[in-house]
Amino acid sequence: AYLDRIAAEDDALGAYLHVDGEAALRTAEQVDAARAGGTATGPLAGIPLALKDVVVTEGVPTTSGSKILEGWRPPYDATLAARLKNAGTVLLGKTNMDEFAMGSSTENSAYRVTRNPWDHDRIPGGSSGGSSAAVAGGLAPWAIGTDTGGSIRQPAAVTGLVGHKPTYGSVSRYGLIAFSSSLDQAGPMTRTVLDAALLHEAIAGHDPLDSTSIDSPVPVLAEAARRGAEGDLAGLRVGVVTELGGDGHTDGYDEGVLARFAETVALLESLGAEVRPVSCPAFDLALPAYYLIAPSEASSNLARFDGVRYGLRVGDDGDRDLDEVMALTREQGFGPEVKRRIILGTYALSSGYYDAYYGQAQKVRTLITRDFTRAWDDVDVLVSPTSPTVAWEVGARVDDPIAMYAADLCTLPASLAGVPAISVPCGLSEGLPVGFQIMAPALADDRCYKVAAALE
Ligand code: GLN
Repeated sequence: AYLDRIAAEDDALGAYLHVDGEAALRTAEQVDAARAGGTATGPLAGIPLALKDVVVTEGVPTTSGSKILEGWRPPYDATLAARLKNAGTVLLGKTNMDEFAMGSSTENSAYRVTRNPWDHDRIPGGSSGGSSAAVAGGLAPWAIGTDTGGSIRQPAAVTGLVGHKPTYGSVSRYGLIAFSSSLDQAGPMTRTVLDAALLHEAIAGHDPLDSTSIDSPVPVLAEAARRGAEGDLAGLRVGVVTELGGDGHTDGYDEGVLARFAETVALLESLGAEVRPVSCPAFDLALPAYYLIAPSEASSNLARFDGVRYGLRVGDDGDRDLDEVMALTREQGFGPEVKRRIILGTYALSSGYYDAYYGQAQKVRTLITRDFTRAWDDVDVLVSPTSPTVAWEVGARVDDPIAMYAADLCTLPASLAGVPAISVPCGLSEGLPVGFQIMAPALADDRCYKVAAALE
């Protein structure tokens, strides 16, 4: 049924970069046979899913949305892809994304523009916009996205989905094509909170192949979602972040987004939560800090795309030396946003500027983490809008990187501090979905699911 939906809708939607229907049907038959033989168990066996194209998949084209990886078929599976395979899920295909996950609209893909199923003239968010469009458009029951500064939560918010960025280190990054290694996390994008919890449980857990993987048991999340669905939040202490859309901080926010947010906070109160405002002054600096740290790490991570090891190679005709081939390959293989970030990051890391830019940004990162730590003395969760606006029109921000970056205003603090954050739908503004963000202390992902389920 999903393959039929893809065949009928994806020309218009542009959610997928690669679909292999025959392979999917073959896997589904194998799972069916295993189940009939009593060897396939587990709650996810036979369920189709889509993976963002940043996830390395053995033998299946993986591009990270970039021309520089066109034609690359990885020789191995990312840990999360292997876990989902072992759980018996059926891979429908790989979804479109901003090149190397840099963007908030999926318009930075080297391959195609993805449309928002709610309104085809609007963006599906980004960088996991192929995953959000696939799930919101009914072209996959659920999908995996990755989130470096908001790329699971923002696309989920603007397409009416649930999206969760796990605690940093709780889902293996092994086999995720690296953008900013101290920030990248993979997580679920789904239609319901319970689905997100189930998918998250399937990919979480310690992995010795990722040196930043936390060695703790797989979190119990579906149970938290089920408890939350009972709708009793008595005693829960909720902090509303002043700096994210509160008094004096409403510049750039849609009125409709703020109205839905206020209604949802009132709903939390009516479910028994104690709500208070919490000021996190350093959050005001999250945007500039992120846009130094992420490009710095990217400039280092993307050095490996040299025309020798993977994918594209340009100008290797015998007359050019290695440096020229590398330069030509990178010139033609990377798109404009990726080049902007490599240049910015290289500059910020260069000697003489390091302390002024990268060093300062890391200090801001520490201040943001401290704001969170202080908040956890008084509240159990912090809440904010997920995105300051609803989905904008395709093309509206492509020539204005600062406007594009502003979409990440609310999602960046949790990324920089490594804490978990979920986006759950909270109604419509101008007929378009609005997301509500719930942030919790590190490793308390279950709180995000519980509160989100109570609001569903
Ligand atoms: N929009 C942000 C950026 O462009 C976040 C991207 C992400 O989370 N991958 O960097």
